[in-house]
Amino acid sequence: MKVTIDDKSGFCYGVVSAISKAEELIAEGKRVYSLGDIVHNDLEVARLESLGVKTISHADLGDIAPEKDTRILIRAHGEPKSTYATLRGGSLGYADATCPVVAKLQRLTVEADKQMREVGGTVLILGKKGHAEVVGLNGQIEDRARVVEKIADLEGVDFSKPLFLLSQTTQSLALFAEVRDEVLRRSAAPSKVVVRDTICRQVAGREEHLRAFAKECDMVVFVCGAKSSNGKVLFEACHSANPHSIKIESPAELTPKMFEGVENVGVCGATSTPHWLMEQVRDTILKIEC
Ligand code: SF4
Repeated sequence: MKVTIDDKSGFCYGVVSAISKAEELIAEGKRVYSLGDIVHNDLEVARLESLGVKTISHADLGDIAPEKDTRILIRAHGEPKSTYATLRGGSLGYADATCPVVAKLQRLTVEADKQMREVGGTVLILGKKGHAEVVGLNGQIEDRARVVEKIADLEGVDFSKPLFLLSQTTQSLALFAEVRDEVLRRSAAPSKVVVRDTICRQVAGREEHLRAFAKECDMVVFVCGAKSSNGKVLFEACHSANPHSIKIESPAELTPKMFEGVENVGVCGATSTPHWLMEQVRDTILKIEC
């Protein structure tokens, strides 16, 4: 059996930077607390925890003493304004690893909100409700934007007023196009609808690449954490190109039966999937063959 790891799968720029930042701070002897999982992959989170990076929630911030060497790490997804206020209020030192692409989108959200408030319009964010990046975006503008996950969420939008549509960075291009077309169709004045495709090309570019990769394999093993948003999008891309695609979180889920009659396996993953984990998956598949 031949097992190939997709050369474009694995951490995106934003995740690599956040993890490197955490590792640097640990090497400097800092006490590092990641505000939420630094990456949507439990095994990578466990690896970082073994180095000393503790994962905390917002509710834990009040329990952390403002010591000189303490650093609260803001992960690539970014945070709402209120988090920075809490950190400053508690005199907690922090390291901001918000991905520059997300930071730019936060600034655009503020600008969109300003424009819409001037004309009585609404900002629409295509994104997953409750996802950290979306909470961070809407938290730049006191939650005035309406978060749209699917077409049905457009019910109740005032289409007689101007609208500004943008997207969480990890949404699918196809869904964005569908929502954009529907917004324009329903709007009483489509010329007053501003559309900004703010999907990160680190993710979007991978959809097409993964479809081609999946087509070349007898079977695809997609590795990603259950909480990964772009993992769902990218797995869907694999599955649409090759129905013999499975999604796993760890090599422990693999069984010999899965590979019966398979000669050519492709291993790939999300932007939050560590390369070392895909290597473990490849090695496990090769051992299954023996
Ligand atoms: S997917 Fe794009 S926007 Fe999101 S963290 Fe990675 S590089 Fe940044």
